[in-house]
Amino acid sequence: MPKTVTLVLSPKQSADAHTYTAAAARTLGIDERDIALVRTVKRSIDARRGRPKVNLTLEVYVDCEPQPAPVHFDYPSVAGRTPVAVIGAGPAGMFAALRLIELGLRPIVFERGKEVLPRKRDIAEINRNGAIDPDSNYAFGEGGAGTFSDGKLFTRSKKRGDYNKALQTLVFHGASPEILYEAHPHIGSDRLPRIVSNICRTITEAGGEVHFGHRMTGLKIRNGKVEGVYCGDTLVEAAAVVIATGHSADDIYMMLHDAGVRLEAKPFAMGVRIEHPQALIDSIQYRGSNETEYLPAASYSLVSQEGGRGVYSFCMCPGGFMVPAMTDASQSVVNGMSPSNRNSPYANSGIVTEVRLSDFEHLRAQYGELAGLAFRREVEQAARRNGGAHQTAPAQRVADFVGGRRSATLPSVSYIPGVVSSNLAEWLPPFISQSLRAGIATFGRRMHGFLTNEAVVVGVESRTSTPVRIPRNAETLMHPETEGLFPSGEGAGYAGGIISAALDGERAADAVYKYVEQRWKRDTK
Ligand SMILES: Cc1cc2nc3c(=O)[nH]c(=O)nc-3n(C[C@H](O)[C@H](O)[C@H](O)COP(=O)(O)OP(=O)(O)OC[C@H]3O[C@@H](n4cnc5c(N)ncnc54)[C@H](O)[C@@H]3O)c2cc1C
Repeated sequence: MPKTVTLVLSPKQSADAHTYTAAAARTLGIDERDIALVRTVKRSIDARRGRPKVNLTLEVYVDCEPQPAPVHFDYPSVAGRTPVAVIGAGPAGMFAALRLIELGLRPIVFERGKEVLPRKRDIAEINRNGAIDPDSNYAFGEGGAGTFSDGKLFTRSKKRGDYNKALQTLVFHGASPEILYEAHPHIGSDRLPRIVSNICRTITEAGGEVHFGHRMTGLKIRNGKVEGVYCGDTLVEAAAVVIATGHSADDIYMMLHDAGVRLEAKPFAMGVRIEHPQALIDSIQYRGSNETEYLPAASYSLVSQEGGRGVYSFCMCPGGFMVPAMTDASQSVVNGMSPSNRNSPYANSGIVTEVRLSDFEHLRAQYGELAGLAFRREVEQAARRNGGAHQTAPAQRVADFVGGRRSATLPSVSYIPGVVSSNLAEWLPPFISQSLRAGIATFGRRMHGFLTNEAVVVGVESRTSTPVRIPRNAETLMHPETEGLFPSGEGAGYAGGIISAALDGERAADAVYKYVEQRWKRDTK
C-alpha cells in the first residue's frame, strides 16, 4: 500500500519534484533512495492570506510496491444492438453515448454542426467579422459548447454521478492526467478539440454512429410514445431519444412546444463579461508573494446580494480571451476561454445577476413558457444594435459603467472582433444594470483594484443557463407525458457546465437502459 503524505509548501518548492520528494521522505522517516514513485493525488493553492501556499497530497510508493495502472476503459462492440437516438454531441450527448455503449445499447448521435476541423474554420470566420453559420459556431458542432470552451472541470454537482470517472474518461481520450488531482482542473481550449474528436471516434469504433450536419427537426410521437426522430424528411426509428441540444438551440424548444411537448419557463442569469489585465488580478490575489513565476495566472470567485438579488462572477478565465458566442448574426453574445497554459495578458469572467420569472412575466401572454427565451433574445439583440456591425461588441470601462458615464476611449481587449464604446445602462434592462453596478462596486471594496477603468465590461453574457426547462420525472428521467423521451444536459435545465452536463448524460443513459429493459420484458411477456 502506498503511504499518503500531505505537505504545505511554497510555490517554488512545490514546482520542484526533488524538493517535495525529499520533504515526503523526511515526513515518512524513510530513505529517499527507497522511493520508487511519488504520485500527486491532490494539489490546491491557498492564497487567502496574501502569501500563497501550495497544499500537496502525495502517494509515495517504495521499491517493489505495485504501482497504479494507467487509466483505461474497454468499450464493448454494440454493432447490431438496440438503437437509441442521441440528439447533440456536446458533453451530455457524448457521455450519454459512451455510457449507452457500456450498457450494450447502440447510440446513434445526430449533431447539427460540423466536425472539429471545419468548425475551427467557421469560428475563425466569426472572429474575422465574417458570417456566422447558424449550425457551426462556438455553441454548435462536434463536442458542443464544450469544444472551444475554457475547459474548467470544476462542478458543484459531484454527487450527481461519478465525477472521477468523468475525469478519467477525459484522460483516456487525451486530457492531461493533471486534471485528476488539481483542485480546479482545467483542460484549455487548445486541447479540447482533440479530446472530443477522440470520444466521437470511440463511439463509432464501438459500432455506434455519429452523424454531423444532421439537425433534428421533429420527433415521431405515437400515442404519447416517441418512436424516432426526423432530420428533415429522413425518419430514424429508435427505442428511445436522449435530447441533449444545449441552451442555444432556440429552434428545438420551439419545435417541442409546437409538437405539444410540455416545457416550463425557468429563472436564469444574465450580465456582462468583465476583463482586467491579468497582471492586475495577479497583483491583487498574490500580493506579498515573490514567487509568482511558480504560480498559475490568478483567478477569483465573487458573489454578493444586491437589493435581494444575487450577483456573481461566473466562468472566470485567467490568462484567457473573450469570444463571440452568438449563434446568429442578430445577437451579441460573449463568453470566455483560455488555452492550457493560460498565458494571455487578460483575465475575464462573466458577471451575472438572477433573472426571475417575474422579470419576464410581461412576455408570458405572447410567448407562454418560452417567455424567458424571448427576453434573452431581446437583450442579445439590443446588445447587437449597440455593438456596431458584424461581431463587434458594446463595451464600457468598468468605473465608467458603475459611475454611469460613457467611456471616451476603451483599453485594448482580448476580444478579436473588436469592441465599440456604449453606455450599457441605456439598453440593458434596468434591473440588470443596477444589480451589476452595485455588485461590481461591492467586489471593488472586497478586492482592491477590481473596480478600475483599466478594466472593461462587454455585452452580453446571456448563455450561462437555459431560460426553459424540458421537464422530466425525477425517477425515470423521462418526460412525464412523452414516453421514451429523455431530456438531458444544460439545455434541458439539468446541468451547468461541462462536467455536470457529462454526468447528466450518463444518468440519462442509465435511465434509458432501465426503460428499454422494462419495455423488452413487457413486450416479450
Ligand atoms: C466559450 C465557452 C466557454 C465555456 N467554458 C466552460 C468551462 O470552462 N467550464 C465549464 O464547465 N463549462 C464551460 N462552458 C459551458 C459548457 O460548454 C456547457 O455547459 C456544456 O457544453 C453543456 O453541455 P451540453 O451537452 O448540455 O450542451 P452543448 O455543449 O450546448 O451541446 C449541445 C449540442 O447539441 C447540438 N444541437 C442543438 N440542436 C440540435 C438539433 N436540432 N439537432 C442536432 N444537434 C443539435 C449543438 O450543435 C451542440 O453541439 C463554456 C461555454 C462556452 C461557449
